[in-house]
Amino acid sequence: MFHFDHKVALVTGGSRGIGRSIAEVFASQGIKVACTARSSSLLENSISEMKAKSLDVMGFVCDGTDENQVKQTYQEICTHLGVPTVLVHNAGIVEEKIILRLNSEEWDKMIDVHLKASFLWSKISLRGMVQQKKGRLIFISSILGLKGAPALSHYAASKSGMIGLAKSIAQEVGKKNITSNVIAPGYIDTQMILDKRDEVIEIINKKACIKRIGEPRDIANLALYLISTEASYITGQVITVDGGISL
Ligand code: NAD
Repeated sequence: MFHFDHKVALVTGGSRGIGRSIAEVFASQGIKVACTARSSSLLENSISEMKAKSLDVMGFVCDGTDENQVKQTYQEICTHLGVPTVLVHNAGIVEEKIILRLNSEEWDKMIDVHLKASFLWSKISLRGMVQQKKGRLIFISSILGLKGAPALSHYAASKSGMIGLAKSIAQEVGKKNITSNVIAPGYIDTQMILDKRDEVIEIINKKACIKRIGEPRDIANLALYLISTEASYITGQVITVDGGISL
């Protein structure tokens, strides 16, 4: 039995996939959840579906790469729900391109969505967590941030950067009762990998210990544990959830 002493959580990219699953498991513990996404259409629909399950969630359209939008959205979340003591930076994108064809705009976009947004959301959330004397930061990276991958140098580099950020934050704010950890998923069944799903299943059957594709809930279950009181001694860690594919 785990215990939770957080009233408000902020989940970026909470409109679908892994982010939505995390929002649902948090809200199922009575935590109010602010979900951000880039556009309103899918977000509104997702929020309505979650509300229909009596979950206390609220949607905020916000591009996490824009500092002003992040500041404004954070204030709105504090006004409507209260100060978040949990941040999950989950929002992400993927695009395959070999490094010889990659241009600097494409590089910057990937770094901004994963790494710059991690910095912006962490910085603004940490102030409130310090005041509340508790906090949990979780960064959704990837196993590719640990081992790299062909045609994904920008994605892998941005996901590695999140690990350095999380470990540094852990050392800066541990004394304030704030933990900072990284989840590194393997292949998870979401829109992100839809185009390559058959190929992914083949790789899993060949290389993974657990012969199934990961579900968003596999990631959400770990996120839920990491925000529990019982996980208060875990910080600065990268925890892989990949069915053993990276072994
Ligand atoms: P998804 O495409 O279903 O969801 C991505 C979410 O991020 C969406 O809600 C989208 O609106 C949001 N988003 C993207 N750019 C944004 C921005 N600039 N501002 C705000 N929101 C933005 O993908 P998913 O599989 O659920 O991915 C969630 C995270 O998990 C990503 O960071 C991804 O890199 C990581 N991940 C996924 C897999 C996988 O196999 N699906 C594997 C490893 C890591």
